Amino acid sequence: MANKIWLDGQLVDEDKAKISVFDHGLLYGDGVFEGIRVYKGKVFKLAEHLNRLYESAKVIRLEISATIAELTKATLETVKANGIDDAGYIRLVVTRGIGDLGLNPFLCKQSTIFIIAASIQLYPEEFYENGMKVISGSTLRNHPMSLPPQIKSLNYLNNILAKIEAIDAGAGEVIMYNHQGFVAEASGDNVFIVKGGKIYTPPVQAGSLEGITRATVFDLARAEGFEVIEKNLTRMDLYIADEFFLTGTAAEVIGVVDIDSRIIGDGTPGPITKMLKKKFYEYACSGTK
Ligand SMILES: *Cc1c(COP(=O)(O)O)cnc(C)c1O
Repeated sequence: MANKIWLDGQLVDEDKAKISVFDHGLLYGDGVFEGIRVYKGKVFKLAEHLNRLYESAKVIRLEISATIAELTKATLETVKANGIDDAGYIRLVVTRGIGDLGLNPFLCKQSTIFIIAASIQLYPEEFYENGMKVISGSTLRNHPMSLPPQIKSLNYLNNILAKIEAIDAGAGEVIMYNHQGFVAEASGDNVFIVKGGKIYTPPVQAGSLEGITRATVFDLARAEGFEVIEKNLTRMDLYIADEFFLTGTAAEVIGVVDIDSRIIGDGTPGPITKMLKKKFYEYACSGTK
């Protein structure tokens, strides 16, 4: 059965879901997006995702040609039309729309919106069991005064260049640093470490996206009595961490056991990482939003 794609107000078959070659999303990576999970038939944190989408759009002065209520309805319709009930992944994309060959975004009359509901597995199952090897990338995360990393933008080349370094090195992920040498994030995930029983993560101002999984992990860890501290982290902090994990909608919670050939802990995902991974999954499946 062909996938049903929501495109500008209608559900269409996958092979009919076509975008103009003059769409600025394609010509310039001009647009914003969200990746959202479906657990046990419930769309996880949809309101939070849509809120972030509109904030990203505001910053790049993109007017989304639908209301939050309309996009909520459209997302739920797309999930239903594709019979997705568990382990689903939604990609909601808003581009600047069709314009001419110049950069001027305001010549684009109306944003293009599409929603894909499918499934995703970001990393092989083995990585979740045994932990992942990562490297420090030489590609710096975008400077916040050029393209703020807090925008979930379609312009992903910065992250792609870093990801290529990981692929070339045979590593599962890449850690990106900012222009000051502090940890920003992974190519599409947020970074956490555990040291002395406390949980640390860089502040978003260090150059990361304000992850919804990250915020959920804050809540879950604090509910278990752990302190979660937002603090700038260096490469050294990562090397000497007791535990190391990444969070993201697609990744969920995944342990890191090797960075630049420095083994983390005993070389397997640590107890706090495993506990948070389990709590996250339980919470996500519980239908509490
Ligand atoms: C989406 C994304 C994340 C993770 O955010 P979630 O809301 O947890 O999915 C982290 N970094 C980047 C660059 C992202 O695009």
